[in-house]
Amino acid sequence: MTTLITNGTVVSASGAVDMDVLVDGEQIAALLQPGATGLGTDLASSAERVIDARGKYVVPGGVDAHTHMELPFGGTAASDTFETGTRAAAWGGTTTIIDFAVQRAGERVFDGLEAWHRKADGNCAIDYAFHMIIGGVDDDSLTAMDRLVSQEGISSVKLFMAYPGVFLSEDGQILRAMQKAAENGSMIMMHAENGTAIDVLIAQSLARGNVDPLYHGLTRPVALEEEATHRAIKLAEVAGCPLYIVHMSAREAVERVMEARDRGGNVFGETCPQYLYLSLEDHLGAPGFEGAKYVCSTPLRSKHEHHQADLWRFLRTNDLQVVSTDHCPFCFKEQKELGVGDFSKIPNGIGGVEHRMDLLYQGVVDGEISLERWVEV
Ligand SMILES: [Zn+2]
Repeated sequence: MTTLITNGTVVSASGAVDMDVLVDGEQIAALLQPGATGLGTDLASSAERVIDARGKYVVPGGVDAHTHMELPFGGTAASDTFETGTRAAAWGGTTTIIDFAVQRAGERVFDGLEAWHRKADGNCAIDYAFHMIIGGVDDDSLTAMDRLVSQEGISSVKLFMAYPGVFLSEDGQILRAMQKAAENGSMIMMHAENGTAIDVLIAQSLARGNVDPLYHGLTRPVALEEEATHRAIKLAEVAGCPLYIVHMSAREAVERVMEARDRGGNVFGETCPQYLYLSLEDHLGAPGFEGAKYVCSTPLRSKHEHHQADLWRFLRTNDLQVVSTDHCPFCFKEQKELGVGDFSKIPNGIGGVEHRMDLLYQGVVDGEISLERWVEV
């Protein structure tokens, strides 16, 4: 099956030009001058299907590098299955997701990976791949990291500095995993928040009777995202492995990434649309229990401290490299409601896989980023 997309403006990370696109099966066969007959034939009449894209942009399919379909969390599970979540992604122009298979302490890495393959296999409307979450770094899981790279095509392992007792890795465990990554050519992804300190603040907040969703944000202060980011960067420096900090929301944390990159460090930063558009005051701090809809970690940040505007700037200056969604939706009824009267029981997560590309395109309309940068991130 050949398809010719004609009369459109093709946008890539390196420019926007008027070109025709010839697609053969699932692959782009050629980019051609509009109306070109360079292949010795009039393509418009020989292609099996012709799409007129006059007045439109023709862009590559989006890649959402961070989603959590069907993720078990806090006694419930993310409400999108691989089927519904990837359909939503396709509607929004995203044609690949990279989700996370999960190993918890005491479990075997390949049992976790198999379980996630079973959830996704045959159910996805688009392409998918996995990063591997390792919640229990030990001799067994470190050995498994080699096989992930050599046999499973999984070259990114996610660790947590947050969620003590669930996913948190101690600094020694983090360093060992980073050394392994340096050895086998993989990359460490990090949820960078100081979870041990955060748990103290949460307990103190609840004891004072501060139980509303707003306190989810106030007990996860900027300083503890910045501290963990800095610590992860230094540990990666010692180990000599590439490091990718996920879902960054605080300016001060991104500044640590920026400094490391300026020194030549192999460090990358990711943010998400919710951190570009939503705020602690307007959303997490909404009256009553409304704010529960916006509970995610890292939390939404204060607009008075203008983190949102700074994140756009970091995208422009390539101090942040990726915008993913961290798509992890929970229904308000029965799921978010688990945390009525105790914000720490609200499942952490926000949906967004369908709207990432148009939300970011709004950044082009608003003059925050260029068309090319939109395609790039
Ligand atoms: Zn995540």
